[in-house]
Amino acid sequence: MTPVATQLGRKGRWDMETTRQNRRRAFTRAFTLVELLVVIAIIALLISMLVPALANARRQAMSVKCKANMKQCYLGMSMYADNNKDWFAPPDLGYPEHPADKCWPSVVFAAIKLKPLPEIMLCPADDEPLAGHSFILNDHVIKRQIRRGKTGGGGISSSDIILMGEKKTDRGDFYMEFKQEGSSEFWQLVEKYRHGLQLGSNYLMLDGHIEAKAPKEAEGGLDPWDIPATQPVGPPPP
Ligand SMILES: [Zn+2]
Repeated sequence: MTPVATQLGRKGRWDMETTRQNRRRAFTRAFTLVELLVVIAIIALLISMLVPALANARRQAMSVKCKANMKQCYLGMSMYADNNKDWFAPPDLGYPEHPADKCWPSVVFAAIKLKPLPEIMLCPADDEPLAGHSFILNDHVIKRQIRRGKTGGGGISSSDIILMGEKKTDRGDFYMEFKQEGSSEFWQLVEKYRHGLQLGSNYLMLDGHIEAKAPKEAEGGLDPWDIPATQPVGPPPP
């Protein structure tokens, strides 16, 4: 073999080797990129599974805290009832006729040494509610003369009568109004989705138990806060 052929042969082998190495490097780079994409896809999948679960857990936690606040409210109202012939709250102390800190909670919660508009009147899922409170008292109960331990008209159980619920954030009302003519502000005042579509909102019942109720919009036209009209309307409590 001539020196030139030897030189060409070596160059040819060198070119082939270089090509093989380049291909190997390219394959390695491509493989790493695929791996990276797979890892990213798995992370994205995990996040998409975790985020709704965490959001759901947060909603559940806020609903539990809301119920705990309602329970404290019930304890305060029960102590008020102890000294006021079983009335849970005084009538006609609403907003805006009275400043928010002079409405019925200021009278009721003084019995348990709380400030006029305490934090137990707040739902953690209610962001900056008007007049500094989240809960609204069922005025039908007061105007229908239903006190602690009583039942509603038609024998409706105290466990089925709403004493307090959640109000809409942009309303300052302290009472879910009772209207003599039978109309109701239920649709304007009551928040039915405070804790989401599944949990609905929380309700404090007359017997002291608290339950989450999903909205029943199918009842359209009926006010579930109203007591059957067989219950007479009497003079307001003292
Ligand atoms: Zn709530």
